[in-house]
Amino acid sequence: MGLFGRRRTVFVDSDILVIGGGMAGCGATYESRYWGRDLKVVCVEKANIERSGAVAQGLYAINCYMGMQWDENQPEDHVRYARNDLMGLVREDLGYDIARHVDSTVHKFEEWGLPIMRDPETGRYQREGKWQIMIHGESYKPIVAEAARKAATEVYNRIMVTHLLMDKTKPDRVAGAVGFNVRNGNFYVFRSKAVIVSAGGASHIFKPRAVGEGMGRTWYAPWSSASAYALPILAGAKMTQMENRIVLTRFKDGYGPVGAYFLHLKTYTENAYGEEYESKWHDHTKELVGDYIDRHPVPTCLRNHAFLEEVKAGRGPIRMVTKEAFQDPHKETVGWENFLGMTIGQAVVWASQNIDPKHTDPELTTSEPYVMGSHATCSGAWASGPADYAPSEYQWGYNRMMTVEGLFGAGDTIGGTAHKFSSGSFTEGRIAGKAAVNYVNDLGNEQPQVSEAEYEDLRKVIFQPLENYRVGRNEIVAGTVSPSYILPINGLQRLEKIMDEYVGGISSHYTTNEPLLTRGLELLSMLKEDVNHLGAEDLHQLQRAWELHHRVLASEAVTQHTMFRTETRWPGYYYRADHPKLDDTDWHCFTLSRYDRESGKWELEKAPVYHIVD
Ligand SMILES: Cc1cc2nc3c(=O)[nH]c(=O)nc-3n(C[C@H](O)[C@H](O)[C@H](O)COP(=O)(O)OP(=O)(O)OC[C@H]3O[C@@H](n4cnc5c(N)ncnc54)[C@H](O)[C@@H]3O)c2cc1C
Repeated sequence: MGLFGRRRTVFVDSDILVIGGGMAGCGATYESRYWGRDLKVVCVEKANIERSGAVAQGLYAINCYMGMQWDENQPEDHVRYARNDLMGLVREDLGYDIARHVDSTVHKFEEWGLPIMRDPETGRYQREGKWQIMIHGESYKPIVAEAARKAATEVYNRIMVTHLLMDKTKPDRVAGAVGFNVRNGNFYVFRSKAVIVSAGGASHIFKPRAVGEGMGRTWYAPWSSASAYALPILAGAKMTQMENRIVLTRFKDGYGPVGAYFLHLKTYTENAYGEEYESKWHDHTKELVGDYIDRHPVPTCLRNHAFLEEVKAGRGPIRMVTKEAFQDPHKETVGWENFLGMTIGQAVVWASQNIDPKHTDPELTTSEPYVMGSHATCSGAWASGPADYAPSEYQWGYNRMMTVEGLFGAGDTIGGTAHKFSSGSFTEGRIAGKAAVNYVNDLGNEQPQVSEAEYEDLRKVIFQPLENYRVGRNEIVAGTVSPSYILPINGLQRLEKIMDEYVGGISSHYTTNEPLLTRGLELLSMLKEDVNHLGAEDLHQLQRAWELHHRVLASEAVTQHTMFRTETRWPGYYYRADHPKLDDTDWHCFTLSRYDRESGKWELEKAPVYHIVD
């Protein structure tokens, strides 16, 4: 008990609690202050908001900008684009809501000091593609974080949130959250009228291509540990489209992005024999998905599909043809700067493997799957839509409120809205912040009550891995294998192996079926038992332990949803071998799940897709 005794419990009261200070969290914090001048707005972050989240390293492009001031695109165009890319299934109300506000967000970024490149001839922002604009974005995150820091009543860095707290007078209402300081081990109890979850996506739930010495090298941020999903799931919030994991075509070994190469540098791909291959797979893909293959642009998953089929046919590796473009010194500079501004690792990998793209066409690969709601995929929480635009079935409260009262979300957290990216995530944070202020104002003097018994129980559970290690360590004479606990790294590797082999990861060519999923769920339930016996050597490992808990629960959601949707909707992201075709008759719908933490059971249902835009 000595360990528990030294630990302080710190209470923090707020009107609005923002969990995760990435792009969406900074947007939520900023906007909550704008509408709630006198409210107490607290942002809590497990790292430091200065350099946290998927944008920590910087970006080279803002991928969601309409350009309405120059009549380049309208919000409806973006809805059509996202709907097409997601094979017909997006929450058009939520997507439209972001698209109509996203330009104002980007203008704020520029006002705050973000250098946005301009086309020297037109004076407009330099386009990389139809939706992307180019930035000098090494300092993107610090610039955005400064706005949030100035807006917040307080930012609590280095606190990992592990659980939400529910109102003891109204069990369906959120009342706060608990977590611990990853540096000094203090226990934090946040009491709040409204909570906005903006804790990023999920990497490292499937076995990555980079293992061993390259283990931390993934495409999505390795610290994106699924809290955005596990926190709402545990609180009983409905989730949507959790089967819609994403697989990215990337430069091999460094996971360097290909967007600027395709769109701006106009490089292209070919197989090992120098042949164009995508058109070869047209008829085969049409058999599986019908007319979706003839849409423009071709949906991202279907381009992956052609890549995968070509490799399976033995004509890999697929290469990006860079040698031609890189003869132009300007394009060569852009090609390198693109990595130096956001994925330095790719430049280092090329240097270490003697690859100069001016002389060698680099190999591409497809990544392991990730789960998130802001990229070309839309897993996440099921949220209420905007009052002026959402169909009545999508409205049960305040904009971006989940199915739990007082619980809001933004960015990767919210499902059904692909292609938000950094600017759209910040914008959705703003939307959620404004709605949360309205919710708090409407509550008036009513104050949700946290239960002392609940947070005291959680305190014991949260720090238990330290105690498990302290006691169990004595049973080990050498090595790390203990009869009494498992280490977070062992649990993580077991999770990744299960998801990889049973739920459609890289080693099975992203393919699964009902028997595999059934066995996967059995193995996950055994893993869930064992993660209650994690051992943590120090606070850093304690954080890893709770990240693992969150990843396991999110993985279970992914597996349940994959089992429920008996079709292959997104070939190239994953395949149900027992239902190999897209089935618009039965599955032109969203999948929804709800987890009951008392029984450990999942309930799944369908929800209609409303097409609001022509
Ligand atoms: C490699 C890569 C390249 C990308 N390229 C582009 C691009 O070129 N252009 C573009 O516009 N977008 C790009 N994106 C997408 C963009 O980064 C995301 O859309 C955006 O960051 C999502 O915002 P978010 O707030 O939901 O998540 P994040 O920005 O990741 O923020 C989540 C935050 O929550 C914190 N957190 C997580 N768990 C907890 C917890 N339990 N307790 C407390 N805090 C927690 C994290 O530390 C983090 O700060 C890219 C993303 C990646 C990974």
